[in-house]
Parts: sequence; C-alpha cells; structure tokens
Amino acid sequence: MTTTIQGIAASPGIAIGPAYIIATERYVPPAEQANRPQEEVERFRQAVAKAAAELEQIRQATLERMGEEKAEIFEAHLLVLEDPDLIEAIEEQIAGEGLKAEYALHQTAQSFVETLRDMDNELLRERAADVEDVAGRIMDALRGRQGSSLASITQPCVIVADDLTPSDTAQLDLNLVQGFVTRVGSRTSHSAIMARSLGVPAVVGAGTQVMEITAGEELIVHAGEGRILVGPDAEERARYVREREQYVARQRELARLKDEPTVTLDEHRVELAANIGNVEDMQQVLDNGAEAIGLFRTEFLYMGRASLPSEEEQYQQYKYVLEKMDGKPVVIRTLDIGGDKELPYMELPEEDNPFLGQRALRLCLAHPELFRTQLRALLRASKHGQLKIMFPMIAVLSELLEAKRILQEEKERLLGEGEAISESIEIGMMIEVPAAALGAAIFAPHVDFFSIGTNDLIQYTMAADRMNEQVSYLYQPCHPTVLRLVKLVIDAAAGHGRWVGMCGEMAGDERAIPLLLGLGLHEFSMSAAAILPARGQLAELNYASCQEWAQEALGLSSEQEVLDLVAARLN
Ligand code: PEP
Ligand code: MG
Repeated sequence: MTTTIQGIAASPGIAIGPAYIIATERYVPPAEQANRPQEEVERFRQAVAKAAAELEQIRQATLERMGEEKAEIFEAHLLVLEDPDLIEAIEEQIAGEGLKAEYALHQTAQSFVETLRDMDNELLRERAADVEDVAGRIMDALRGRQGSSLASITQPCVIVADDLTPSDTAQLDLNLVQGFVTRVGSRTSHSAIMARSLGVPAVVGAGTQVMEITAGEELIVHAGEGRILVGPDAEERARYVREREQYVARQRELARLKDEPTVTLDEHRVELAANIGNVEDMQQVLDNGAEAIGLFRTEFLYMGRASLPSEEEQYQQYKYVLEKMDGKPVVIRTLDIGGDKELPYMELPEEDNPFLGQRALRLCLAHPELFRTQLRALLRASKHGQLKIMFPMIAVLSELLEAKRILQEEKERLLGEGEAISESIEIGMMIEVPAAALGAAIFAPHVDFFSIGTNDLIQYTMAADRMNEQVSYLYQPCHPTVLRLVKLVIDAAAGHGRWVGMCGEMAGDERAIPLLLGLGLHEFSMSAAAILPARGQLAELNYASCQEWAQEALGLSSEQEVLDLVAARLN
C-alpha cells in the first residue's frame, strides 16, 4: 500500500525513483595513542591535502554550475584548511601528546566549533558550520572513505536525508539525482534555497516518517505540493510519469517567456514581480524573468540569529538586491516581526493574541532605534537602484504619518552627514488590515502606492487565524467580500493617480488572476517560480472580458459562485 508523507514544498517539480538514503551520523573516534607520532603527522597532512584537492574540485564544479556566489562557500572551506590555528593545534596534539590523528582532529575541531558557536558574532558562528564540514572531510580522508556518500551515486535516485548541507547540495549530480526529501528544514533553510537555485524538485521538513523509508524503495515526490508517495502502485506511477512529462513540457514552453513583457491578448500591460526573503532568492528571481521585486520580507535578515543585524550589514544586503535588479523597481518592506515571526533575542513580552498585538510597524514605532537603523540602511542603499520603501500593518493614518516623519528625520540626518540619497524613492504601505482597505481613500494622498497583503487581509477580514488548520476553509481569496475590498483599494488609489500591487499569495493564484486583472491591479508579486506560469496565463486572457467578469463576481454571494463564473467564462 502506498504511504503518503506531507512536507514543505521547497522547490517545484516531480521526481520519481528509488530512495537513496544518506546516513548523517558523525564518526566519533576512540581515544587512541599513535605508535609513531611523526608518521602520524604525515598521515594527517596527506589527509588535509586530499580534502583540499576534493574541495577545489567541488569549488570549480559549483562555480561552473551555479556561479560565483555559491562557490564562495567552498572558498571559505578551503580557508579553514589553511587556518594555522586549527591545523597546527592538531599537529601539536599528534606530535606532542602522541594522539592518533583521528582523535586529535576530533578533539581540536570540536573545541573550535564550540568556541565559535558561543561567539557574539553571526559571521563567526557561521564559521562553526564550515569547520565542522571541513573536519568531517579530513576525517573521511583519514579513514580512507569517499569524501561523501553522494559521490558514490551511480543510478538515478531520489535522495532521502536528515538534512543536506550546502556542500552536499552543491555536489548533487543532476543527471542522476531526480530530487530530494529531508526530515528537517523550512522554505528558507539552506537546502531549500539551494534546491530552488538548482531547479531540483525538493520537499523539506517532512518529519520523522521519512527516516522510515528504506534504501531502494520507490518514491514519487510531488514537490510543488510538498507530497511524497512511498511505494506507489503501477497505476499511480503511470499517472505521475505523465504528469511529469506535462510539467517538463510546460516549463520548457514557459521559459521562452522569460524576457517577454507581461501583456494580455488585448495589449493591456501589468507587472509581474517577485517576493523574496533573502539575497539567496535572487538567482531564481533573475532566472524567472521578474520585472521587479514586489516584496522583500526583511524580517528574515533578523531571524535565525542571536542579535540584531547592524546598519552596515543591512545596507550590504539591500545594495546587493538593488544592484542585481539593475534599475528595476525593488519594494523593500520594513521589519514585520510579531504574529508568527518571533525574535527571541529581543525578549518581547508574551501577548495573548500576537496577530492582533504589537506586530510590524506597531513594534517599530514602539522601538524607534530598531526602526531608525533599518531606515538608515535603506536610505543609504537607495543610490544603488530604484528603491521603494513599504510600511506593513498600518491601520490608521497617524501610524503612516509617524513612520514617514521618522524616515524624513533620518534622511535629513544622513544628508547632513554628506550621504548620497536617491531623490526618487517611492513610499508605500501594505493593505493588510480591513481598516486600511476600507479607509484607503484616507491614505492615498500620503503614499505613492499600495500593496495588498491578502494573507493577512483575509485572515483579519474573516477573523480566521492563518496558522489554524481548523478554520483554513475561511481562507477564500475569491470571495466577493475580499474582491470588494480589493476594488475599494484600487478605486481609492486611482482617485489620486497611485498604483496598486498585491504581494499576498492570492496574487500568484491562477484562479484569482483573471479577477485581479479585471479589477485593475497593476502589479502582481509572487514567488519567483510562479511568475512564468502567470505570464503564460495572462497572455491568454482578455482584459476587457476580465473587467466584465470581475464586475459580475462582485455581485455574487459565495467564493464557489465566483469560481464557477470564471470557469464558465473561460470555457
Ligand atoms: C500578507 O500579509 O499578505 C503578506 C504579504 O505579508 P506576510 O505574508 O509576510 O505577512
Ligand atoms: Mg502580512
């Protein structure tokens, strides 16, 4: 019988093949003495040389396949091998204390890793993972084992692992590896990011059930839906083989639209933008022909670390994204912490209803120093491209005016210090709170644009927690009530000559796209992988017809009626 495991969709596509299990247990050597310490030092040096040669090979391959940035990981690993503090300390333990090379390596690397992990500096903490990775490689060389079991793959397969490190992912032979599945991880974990940039179907965070998969067992990974089928029957297999063929053919067709404008049958143009969470997402953005960044969720720069990112660190990240977009618009949203996004190191008070609490801009206004640091980084980065700054979670005008006042103060301060700042930064706000949607006309004179955040707007309109499965049936993006709110916002903006985008999941939902087009949305911002399918869909739609359908939809009484209407009109 087929077992189905549900995980997180990390990178779309369909993979079919036998499971290849990667064992992740680390070897712990026994405490042994060496008979001839000098020979043991020599053996250690040879292992280091072998590890260096392997790393150089991987670095080259990564450079060719994935570019400079990904190859830098291995440059960092090579530097660890050249670090005299580490290497000489190990040699001293072997020569001075007569320890076996394996044991000296294990002891010394372990103590380095622990010290680095305790450091108050993000970069040094990241180095701990590098040292661990490199020590593992030297250990394999000492024990005469292949550098990684990934290197021994000779047949097409689907990899099953606890997690994959960046160096594992970079070594995948894409002629053989059909996809991968991991027990841990999230959409923003390193393995997921690498999978997206390689275009390998991947499901991450699938839980302990994946560890029960046995080597060679047949797997089907429907990565776009985060689903893994273990031991499918012949019928299921045939169905997914067909689906995979269709997927591949469609991708090939869509790739032709990469550098095309987004235009409907009747020549109406809209903009397709990408949502990003960090700089690693940029490769996908460029590969999928995004015309802009419609949402940079900057909170991810603040998460998964032990202290706040400095102004300089943020400046470098914003500059990178603006430069990569080469003059195309980049909407950067100020910090949106709270709700389900926590920053443990800030030790914020517990709230009974965090989604209704001091989140996003509310938090920034209550902690002005935190906010000012980010605004300074953004203003300084503005000279590197077409920056648009966006404030999240606004409910009343005074919040917007206060945020703009602080921004203006920081701008004047920087100009006073001789800093160059772009003259054409647009200022916008998200529409996530029903009060902001209903009151859009109040805000319109004070902003350059709106971006509708439907993930929150629908949660607050329906009073249904977006994290709670029990009420997920109330997430109804095509409900006439939601469409009316969208129309209110677009009409209010039009009255003041402002443009309107949407950066919630609804913008990339193929069922909603004809309606949003018909309501007059200007910019659709979505995950990079959704852009080309949306461009293909829009190219087959007629703007004038969509305007009529949207008008009709506004008068209906349920989401199902709206979906039926669109389906009937499309046929
Ligand atoms: C939204 O609420 O629609 C949105 C884009 O913001 P986030 O999903 O980050 O809350
Ligand atoms: Mg939101």
